[in-house]
Amino acid sequence: MTLPRLNFRQLYDQFDAPVTPLDCGKRCAPHNPSGKPFCCDICQAVPAVYQSEWEYLRPATDLWHVWQGTECQDNPEDPAAWQSETPQGMLLLACLGPDRCQRSFRALSCRQFPFFPYISEDFRFLGLVYEWEFEPFCWVISRLDQVTPAYRQEFVQAHMHLFETWPGEFNSYLLRSEELREHYHSLKRRFPLLHRNGGFYLVSPGSGRLQRIPPERLPRFRPYRQPDEPVMAP
Ligand code: SF4
Ligand code: SF4
Repeated sequence: MTLPRLNFRQLYDQFDAPVTPLDCGKRCAPHNPSGKPFCCDICQAVPAVYQSEWEYLRPATDLWHVWQGTECQDNPEDPAAWQSETPQGMLLLACLGPDRCQRSFRALSCRQFPFFPYISEDFRFLGLVYEWEFEPFCWVISRLDQVTPAYRQEFVQAHMHLFETWPGEFNSYLLRSEELREHYHSLKRRFPLLHRNGGFYLVSPGSGRLQRIPPERLPRFRPYRQPDEPVMAP
């Protein structure tokens, strides 16, 4: 089946607001042995793009190439082994690195990070949740109060457009949201939600119940909280 075309240039232009007012890469990079922001370090994360996104990017910029598996010299990988883990219709890329980033050609996955759209069990796109594997690495995850309303709004608009054009993506994020609930259920912890209504909530992974909380009470993780500071403010 041929998917309707998505205008990635337009999507990028409408989803371009920085996540936080300050350069968050300067906050996390000192904690990465490579000295790079975690999400721009190919040894920490391999970006995935849609096939049609690559068709737009390939002739437009020299920023990206298909991931070879050898870009992380300390830990080379076999791309074939990762193929089965990559969602259908997507491919893995590598960029020139943070020193040579071309902001206007950042992929959708760069613009989303560290978030993905949260879909409730009753099929509602409620807002933004974060990639839980990055709790100990990404500074933004420990400072959700710093995420700008403009970023939140653009994130929601971009994903509404994505779901209207490609409804199958809604199902992908429904599954990802289920994985998120299972993860936090196993930890017996609630997880934060940046609701599209502008509020901050904690979600109970079992019942799906939402509790609105002040942003200063959102959880923080090491190394971005003081040793004597609790995960959540009392
Ligand atoms: S989004 Fe997170 S991992 Fe990426 S640069 Fe900002 S703080 Fe670092
Ligand atoms: S394109 Fe830019 S933002 Fe995206 S991973 Fe590369 S350096 Fe980071």
